[in-house]
Amino acid sequence: MQNSKTTFLSLTDNLYSTNECGILWRRSVAAICNLPLEKCYFIDDSDLSGEQKEQLKSVAERLACGEPLEYILGFAEFCSLRFNVNKSVLIPRLETQEMVDFIGRNRDREKAWRILDIGTGSGCIGVTLAKLFPNSKVTAIDISSDALECAKSNAALHGACNVDFILCDFINGSDTIKGCFDIIVSNPPYVRPTERNTMPKRVIDFEPHTALFVPENDPLLFYRHIAMFAKSHLTADGMVMVEINQYLGTQTLEVFKSLDFDCELKKDTFFENRFVYACNKNFYFVNL
Ligand code: GLN
Repeated sequence: MQNSKTTFLSLTDNLYSTNECGILWRRSVAAICNLPLEKCYFIDDSDLSGEQKEQLKSVAERLACGEPLEYILGFAEFCSLRFNVNKSVLIPRLETQEMVDFIGRNRDREKAWRILDIGTGSGCIGVTLAKLFPNSKVTAIDISSDALECAKSNAALHGACNVDFILCDFINGSDTIKGCFDIIVSNPPYVRPTERNTMPKRVIDFEPHTALFVPENDPLLFYRHIAMFAKSHLTADGMVMVEINQYLGTQTLEVFKSLDFDCELKKDTFFENRFVYACNKNFYFVNL
């Protein structure tokens, strides 16, 4: 009879390389046995109960159908924090982590900032910022009530009491968001339908399309609305930071330039144009 690891690998190797299968195995063992990852190198059948072996097999079967591991296990890591995820929210990406890290390094962590996270999804950006800036107040909005439930569960998980969650369609209802903000941040939908063929099947098949896709003929829709909103809701020395489509860097920057912001494109770890950082004129260098 095959042992659990061999069964796991043989079920998953149609979609993943041997290396990836090994990593998926270890992450699954860690989650199911509730062990830290580094304790999961030499786990074999003698360390697993019958139930754990069954659970590992069912994880492998779902992986074999293309489902991302994070949805199967129900959580993902973001900035060293664990976030509950489900099919109503995107799985947090490494790049998004860089954006949060940048904000954390560029603003005084003790001050009481007013932070707005547009399209919060799992809440990974808003909740992490709420933890990084404990004296600040975060407003996290999303168009999906299921996503907001997930984000709320993550705020509760991390004891982040300084986040307000608001159900809001930003494009059609941003007038309901009152007040000014020192930090406006967003990872809005930005993928054009024609880019589908550049994306992994598991993203297309499992992640929420409302969080991923924008109309082919208006891919900068969200950035236009964010920049316009910032014109009247960003404090004089505030900052906007948004994640962007790497193929539309110059055009996205132009949206902010045309509204008279001082702004800059920033690259991610993979050397792709991935963020726009924008401030009111004359406050750019003060802030950096
Ligand atoms: N970067 C994500 C992806 O490649 C998309 C995130 C988004 O649309 N905001 O799937």
